Amino acid sequence: MKIGTKIALQFTFIVATILTIFCLVIYYLSENYRQQEFYNCLRECANTTARLPIKKKEIDKKLLKIIDRNTLDTLYGVQVLVFNDENVVAYSNINSDAIYYSPELLNRVRKEQYLETAYNDKQVVGSIYDDENGSAYVVLAQANDKYGKEKLENIKDTLIIGLFSTIIITIVFGFLFASHALKPIATMNSDISKITAYNLKTKLHTGNNRDELARLAINFNQMLARLENSFELQKSFVSNASHELRTPLAAIKSEIQIALEKERTAVEYQTTLKSLLHDTQHIIKLINGLLQLAKSEKSDSEVLMSPLRVDTVLFEAQEEVTHLFPSYEVQIDFEDIPEDDRLITVLGNSALLKTVFTNLMENACKYSDNQKADVRISFNRRNCLIAFQDEGIGIERTEMNKIFEPFYRTQTAKKYRGHGIGLSICKRIVQIHGGRITVKSEVGKGSVFHVILPHV
Ligand code: ADP
Repeated sequence: MKIGTKIALQFTFIVATILTIFCLVIYYLSENYRQQEFYNCLRECANTTARLPIKKKEIDKKLLKIIDRNTLDTLYGVQVLVFNDENVVAYSNINSDAIYYSPELLNRVRKEQYLETAYNDKQVVGSIYDDENGSAYVVLAQANDKYGKEKLENIKDTLIIGLFSTIIITIVFGFLFASHALKPIATMNSDISKITAYNLKTKLHTGNNRDELARLAINFNQMLARLENSFELQKSFVSNASHELRTPLAAIKSEIQIALEKERTAVEYQTTLKSLLHDTQHIIKLINGLLQLAKSEKSDSEVLMSPLRVDTVLFEAQEEVTHLFPSYEVQIDFEDIPEDDRLITVLGNSALLKTVFTNLMENACKYSDNQKADVRISFNRRNCLIAFQDEGIGIERTEMNKIFEPFYRTQTAKKYRGHGIGLSICKRIVQIHGGRITVKSEVGKGSVFHVILPHV
């Protein structure tokens, strides 16, 4: 079912329910008022009718009956019976057998002094009336409230007609209202269906920029902008990666071509093969870096974490770096000695954190003439801080943010080997661990990279 139809029907259902309850309450109250009003009327009739025959015994009861019939009976159809204390009819404005009564009813009236009850379609009032001798007469008055019931029927018809016409009007307005309210969604839908991966620049109309739908459109536009951005990044990543791979592959190809141009000596072949091996290792390193970058793009929840001592991972990284590059020197020190192991324990993935630490150690040594990296561990109430300091070439202020983007390399670093992907991997891994990485640097004097990780 369409949302518009659903809203219109739900709206109608709610209005119909409220109106029905309202009509029932009105009907119920009107019926109560009618009954009460008629009981009051019967009581008055009983009193006025009984007063004369009881008080003035000498009055001509036949004449009285005729008068009563002309007034009470024709006006309301009220029938009045007066019983003496032996339950014998002392006066009636009609023939007494035409009216319902029973000794139990008379006894109840005597007991309760006043009684209101219903019999068939008639309402009955019973009351006690004393004469001057102290004899108690029971007066019964009963009648069918024809006019009242007719009035109530009219009210019922009016309520039913009112209810049904209001429901019909609500359905019509409900549909109009729903289609009007959902119009911006329909427009949004048709706009969205036109958006593809190639026209992410298309934006949705944001209407009045204030209501919920406008906010939805604004958020959607922001999401499109983010998607466009990541598509652009992906495109530049692929072209950068292909470029980085093409350069060493082209070098390998030309080396093979040159080697094949003429007959070579065994030593020459060996030199060419060594050079090819070196280039191939270079390509493997780059591909490994790209794979690591892809892995670090995993969603945070996919990475297995466990409590790790930061210094242990740092020592493992140091061993790996100095083993790979024996000329590098990596010094690890504590700024303060932790009283509690937890201050230097983080919830992390040891393989990923080792990748960060080896990258930063390697960079510090690679971009310094003395090939030295100074690593210091410190901590505060929340975080464990690891500083990787060198006295190397340094980084221009304007380039400090860019070095964390994939494939970005500073001008001064171009003469050193590298592909510019290590720091982007580090940034992502540190992010996965809920931390951050920052850099301070001065050209010609050196750099310090800070890795800040929340400890347990
Ligand atoms: P790579 O070192 O392979 O080029 P990285 O992503 O690790 O890739 O670093 C990106 C760039 O940041 C480097 O090319 C270099 O310009 C700069 N950089 C990183 N570390 C240092 C450092 N310790 N000193 C100076 N420049 C650095």
